[in-house]
Amino acid sequence: MADVPALEDLGDVSGKRVFVRTDFNVPMSGPDESRTITDDFRIRASLPTIQWLVERGAIVTCASHLGRPKGKEVAKYSMTPVRTRLAELAPGVTLLENLRFDAGEEANDPDFVARLIEGMDLYVNDAFGAAHRAHASIVGPPASLPSAAGRLLQREVEVLGALREHPRRPFVAVLGGAKVSDKLAVIEALRERVDALVIGGGMCFTFLAAQGHGVGDSICERDQIETCRRLMLDGPPIHLPEDLVGTDETGSVRTFGSRLPDGARGLDIGPGTAAVFSDVIMDAGCVFWNGPMGMFEDPRFVSGTRAIAEAMGATKAFSVVGGGDSAAALAQFGHASDVDHVSTGGGASLEYLELGDLPGLKALREAPRVR
Ligand code: ADP
Ligand code: MG
Repeated sequence: MADVPALEDLGDVSGKRVFVRTDFNVPMSGPDESRTITDDFRIRASLPTIQWLVERGAIVTCASHLGRPKGKEVAKYSMTPVRTRLAELAPGVTLLENLRFDAGEEANDPDFVARLIEGMDLYVNDAFGAAHRAHASIVGPPASLPSAAGRLLQREVEVLGALREHPRRPFVAVLGGAKVSDKLAVIEALRERVDALVIGGGMCFTFLAAQGHGVGDSICERDQIETCRRLMLDGPPIHLPEDLVGTDETGSVRTFGSRLPDGARGLDIGPGTAAVFSDVIMDAGCVFWNGPMGMFEDPRFVSGTRAIAEAMGATKAFSVVGGGDSAAALAQFGHASDVDHVSTGGGASLEYLELGDLPGLKALREAPRVR
C-alpha cells in the first residue's frame, strides 16, 4: 500500500468537502417498502474512515451502491434504511441515493462523475467490495480530485497483499461455492502461490467429473471439465471430497462416497471429508477460505460448512475469510471474531489475490496529490 495515498496524505481536511465512496451494500430483508438491514457489518466497517475525517473537521458525503437496480430507481434498493442507520452511527454525515439508480455509475459516464464531484474538494475510497469495478464512483473522482484510500480499503489490501507476497507456510486455500467457472481464474492464480488447494461446495463436482467419477444430478459444469483435468495434472495437491452428503433418487438424505449414483445430488461434503479438510486447515501456516462447502442455507446440508468455519476459528494459522456467503456462514456459526480477517469483498478479494491490483487502487495511485 506504500504507493497508494492514505488519509494522512490529504493534508489538512478541516472545512474540506470530502466525497467518500463506501460499500454499504448490506444484506436486507422484509417487504419492498419497509426493508430492514439484517447485518450492518459493512456500515460499521467504514466508521474508522468516516470518524477520522469528521474529527478533523471535514464535511463528509458518503455514496454507495445497493443491490442491482440496473440504472433505474427501484424502491427496494433505496438507501433510506442505510441512511437511518448511518445517522445513528455517524451523525451529520450525508449519504447520497443509490449510485446504481443512475446508469452512469456502471457505465463510468463522465457526466455522472462530474455531477458526483461537483463542489467536492477531496475523494476517499473505502469501498473495498467495489474496488474491482471500473465504475464512475470508483475510478472517476480520483482522475481530478486529490484522493486517498480509507482505513478499510487499506487494511483489506494489507491483509490480502500479505497472503500474496509473504504467506506463512504452508499456505492453504479452501474454495467452495456454487460455480467453478466464477472461480477458475483465481484457482489458476492461487496454484502458483499456495501449498495446497481444498475444494468443496458445488464446484467440487466438476473436478470429480474430471477424475472420471459419476456426479449424478449434482451441479457440474461440463464445459469446464477439461480445464479442471488440466489443473490437476501438476502443481500443488488439490484435496477433493472422499465422501459426500446429498439426496438419492427418492429425495432422501444420504451419505455417499466420492462417486454418486444416477439421480443423486451432492449437497454437502461428508463427515470424513470435513475431518480431513479441518486437519489441513489446522496444520496450515495461513489459510484463505472462500465459498461454502455445501448448500448451507438448508439445515440438512450445513455440517460441512460448519466444520470448516470451526476449523478456521480454531487454527493457529493466519486465517482470512472472503465472500458474502462464507462470511455469513462464519457469523451464523459464531466464529466471525475467531479469524484474523473477514473481508468485506467477495469478488474483490478473489480478484486481488489473482492479480495483486484493482482498478480502484490504480486510480488512487494515479490521482493528483495535495500540494
Ligand atoms: P461466497 O458468497 O462466499 O463467495 P458463493 O456465492 O460462491 O460464495 O457460493 C455460495 C452458494 O453456493 C450458496 O448459495 C450455496 O448454497 C451454494 N452451494 C454450495 N455447495 C453447493 C452444492 N453442492 N450444490 C448447490 N449449491 C451449492
Ligand atoms: Mg455469494
